[in-house]
Amino acid sequence: MRTVLVVEDEMKIARVVRDYLTDAGFDVIVASNGEAALASARGSRPDLVVLDLGLPGIDGLDVARELRGSSHVPIVMLTARGEETDRIVGLELGADDYVVKPFSPKELVARVRAVLRRTSTAEMLREQPVRVADVEIDPQRMRVTASGRPVELTPTEFQLLAALAREPGRVFTRGQLLDAIHGMAIESYERAIDAHVKNIRKKLEPEPGKPRYVLTVHGVGYRFADA
Ligand code: CA
Repeated sequence: MRTVLVVEDEMKIARVVRDYLTDAGFDVIVASNGEAALASARGSRPDLVVLDLGLPGIDGLDVARELRGSSHVPIVMLTARGEETDRIVGLELGADDYVVKPFSPKELVARVRAVLRRTSTAEMLREQPVRVADVEIDPQRMRVTASGRPVELTPTEFQLLAALAREPGRVFTRGQLLDAIHGMAIESYERAIDAHVKNIRKKLEPEPGKPRYVLTVHGVGYRFADA
């Protein structure tokens, strides 16, 4: 059974989320603050973390940063309306998706399933390695190298880069890229894709400000360099 760590200080919300995820067949651990969340993440190695950004003590973004420092565990953020900046920062820190409060618990369960699907090893094992320019993408090992230099990506960044690199030169709209990572049509998804791309560039490109692999197509989206 897969384990989800729910980090939420509002007990009413935590209980509803726990009940829905339990009904959906997950093992659920609840932590009501950042310190407890980090201890749980270390101790019980959850398969996914649902993380409220507004926490007392260590805030949600710091929890995300800490988690990313030591693991690739998928993260779905819970954010309040009006916290768009935090949402983008969270995605840049490597969170995989988010839902905005107030949310429907059913929608959250669907998001959790979608993120687990796209980050599952079994899914990636079916995909072939890609080599384009001096970038090598190996889905079986979830490994990326650029000129032989290893590049550490989160599962979502990995899927996004692989989708672009599989068809060098093809222009993808942000909506198509969202489909490629099995995302859902979410509020400000274009900015979410931009945040993931910014992250990939920071890690992959020798000069992130002058990208040579993942190129912007103004007014449309992105493409992987074909020459
Ligand atoms: Ca909160």
